[in-house]
Amino acid sequence: METCSAVKGKVGLVLAFPALQCQDFSGISLGTGDLHIFHLVTMAHIIQILLTSCTEENGMDQENASGEEELAVLALYKTLHQYTGSALKEMHSGWHLLRNVRAGIMPFLRCSALFFHYLNGVPSPPEIQASGTSHFEHLCNYLSLPNNFICLFQENKEIMKLLIESWCHNIEVKRYLEGERDAISYPRESNKLIDLPEDYSNLINQASNFSCPKSGGDKSRAPTLCLVCGTLLCSQSYCCQTELEGEDVGACTAHTYSCGSGVGIFLRVRECQVLFLAGKTKGCFYSPPYLDDYGETDQGLRRGNPLHLCRERFKKIQKLWHQHSITEEIGHAQEANQTLVGIDWQHL
Ligand SMILES: [Zn+2]
Ligand SMILES: [Zn+2]
Repeated sequence: METCSAVKGKVGLVLAFPALQCQDFSGISLGTGDLHIFHLVTMAHIIQILLTSCTEENGMDQENASGEEELAVLALYKTLHQYTGSALKEMHSGWHLLRNVRAGIMPFLRCSALFFHYLNGVPSPPEIQASGTSHFEHLCNYLSLPNNFICLFQENKEIMKLLIESWCHNIEVKRYLEGERDAISYPRESNKLIDLPEDYSNLINQASNFSCPKSGGDKSRAPTLCLVCGTLLCSQSYCCQTELEGEDVGACTAHTYSCGSGVGIFLRVRECQVLFLAGKTKGCFYSPPYLDDYGETDQGLRRGNPLHLCRERFKKIQKLWHQHSITEEIGHAQEANQTLVGIDWQHL
């Protein structure tokens, strides 16, 4: 999924740093200069998580902060509460805060470990590669972070105080806290394709009520559902063609550029067929996540048996999307079936 802003910031700083100062690099995964930058960005990200995490305290047993780390994170949160003029919600549970910070920071730690691994070539310990565990401690060790990372804030207390205060007074942070703008909240939830109805006839009804948005109430010939955002489009039709980079393209290709940075996943409702698009020239059809009672798809809706959602198949499509494999899947399909190469995908 999308790289978070903290990772981008860190990468930019680390790559620019050697130009400013000669580095002392002594064989650990991070050189000294990188380590300072990494600590700074990590602290900024922790503040970002604390300012945006919206988990409710749910009154579980861990109400009272007991551990050193829980007390430290609670104290940090209280400082933020004070600097933001109490615009930040009150929290009393260090346990909940710590859980949020740990969950929120994991993607950043994973990306950082990969980045420094490829930058400095220090092999990662085998524990990090094992699947199934959270790796929090191992990642902290690899990245030379203290396990109790709230300690970072105590190392340069006075400077950090000023920095945190200035972050809290940032105009965009203020607007977010006052509800005037949205922000990504951490821990981030992974993106999902839209929820599809159990019964395919619901989609057919929805599509037959759909009229072309450009030709004053006429029914659309090929109503097509974007599985990323749920928009119904009038595909494969001159009425909804638009110009994209000087070329005429159909509604799906145009939508793909605004919704999925050039990659699109659609359901052609009248055909019960999934459509993958990548760029203006590549595409393929993919088997739909709807099956009849015999466990078979009905592409083209020729048999007309009742169709029901197959979660397993839908999960597979979602996985292709999560793993950025749509373009690769189109490549495989076009290799296996040359007639796909000749289709003018951009007109869909
Ligand atoms: Zn969309
Ligand atoms: Zn149209």
